[in-house]
Amino acid sequence: MLSVHTSPLHQPGTGDAGGMNVYIVELAKRLAELNIEVEVFTRAVCSDDAPTVELAPGVLVRHVTAGPYEGLIKEDLPAQLCAFTHGVLRTEAGHRPGHYDLVHSHYWLSGQVGWLAAQRWGVPLVHTMHTMAKVKNAALAEGDSPEPPARVIGETQVVEAADRLIANTAEEAAELALHYAARPDQLAVVHPGVNLDVFRPGDQAAARARLGLPQDAAVLLFAGRIQPLKAPDVLLRAVAVLLDRQPGLREHLVVPIVGGPSGSGLAKPESLHKLAAELGISDVVRFHPPVGQDRLADWYRAATALVMPSYSESFGLVALEAQACGTPVVAAAVGGLPVAVRDGVTGTLVAGHDPGDWARALAPYATEPGLVRDRGRAAARHAAEFGWGAAAAGTAEVYAGTLSRPAGRLTGSRLRLA
Ligand code: UDP
Repeated sequence: MLSVHTSPLHQPGTGDAGGMNVYIVELAKRLAELNIEVEVFTRAVCSDDAPTVELAPGVLVRHVTAGPYEGLIKEDLPAQLCAFTHGVLRTEAGHRPGHYDLVHSHYWLSGQVGWLAAQRWGVPLVHTMHTMAKVKNAALAEGDSPEPPARVIGETQVVEAADRLIANTAEEAAELALHYAARPDQLAVVHPGVNLDVFRPGDQAAARARLGLPQDAAVLLFAGRIQPLKAPDVLLRAVAVLLDRQPGLREHLVVPIVGGPSGSGLAKPESLHKLAAELGISDVVRFHPPVGQDRLADWYRAATALVMPSYSESFGLVALEAQACGTPVVAAAVGGLPVAVRDGVTGTLVAGHDPGDWARALAPYATEPGLVRDRGRAAARHAAEFGWGAAAAGTAEVYAGTLSRPAGRLTGSRLRLA
């Protein structure tokens, strides 16, 4: 696997680390359990990074030196792709020919490397976009900076070069066809999963006690990278409207924001704090740095509802994770979220980003415990359908298709993946 710009070893929820990191970790572990050995190449960003790190049995992370460890942002990385590719090819050259059976690249920067490596080794290239410039640009938050044309060109080249493209949802597959001229025979849909061992329902009172949250409050949680695309500001604006409409709620409302600045949000890391102050709701909003998955599960259990007002979202893993913990989700009806959330059953889908509409959608969660309980139960049942085992099996099928081998034979033999 190729993951140029972010490492599966990094803490998700801030900077460049998010759902893709979780996706690669979980998928690679489950593939290894299917006897598909995985090596993940990623760029070294620290002089302490060992050349190789075993992430799990059968999953090796390889750090590739490509440019200085520190000081480069994602936008600088196209200039380092040659150096990165050199590192990947040199590693392979140290093995006997035919060492890797297949390349699976994640995000367009890795796709560029995979394009060359797969051709050089004569093996299939499977690519997962995770996000697409054209889709992001079509739904930008106000004032957010668009993705550059060079990314669109790079993505188009990767789509042309890939043997198979794995999309998170049927909608993403349609976007690949519409915006990037992907052919039907390239496209496969595999839903991502959720780690059902970590994210499972639990005692809300105990979780609240551990997190220092009041037992009697309505807790409307935001979790994820803080950037305009994720629209945490829409949640704050909606809360201000809600409190305006129902001032009595103020004493019993807590809005935790768990995560760190990322992307264009890095330019103004304080802007959300400032907005809370401007809206006069600093007393209900609490900011917390990103946390590991076990702790995050506690946040989900403690929450009355998870709120995801994103402008675009290729899937939205936090929506599945919260539901797996028995917490309903109020989400924007964009990208993969209508697959992750069942409107009116496991949460609410909201069209658009008008704070008044969001306040209306959030109100029942703050005031109707019965509704929260019913939807939370339905949410846990719904999320249980999305295990990573199924995602890995679906991905293995795609690999098998490119290798013209039945999936059973593929997983029974020892296959090596870069
Ligand atoms: N996450 C985390 N700690 C945090 C906040 C988020 O580990 O404090 C993880 C979360 O579990 C999820 C991922 O970050 O798996 C975010 O994925 P999502 O698909 O929701 O958004 P993306 O980051 O891909 O845009």
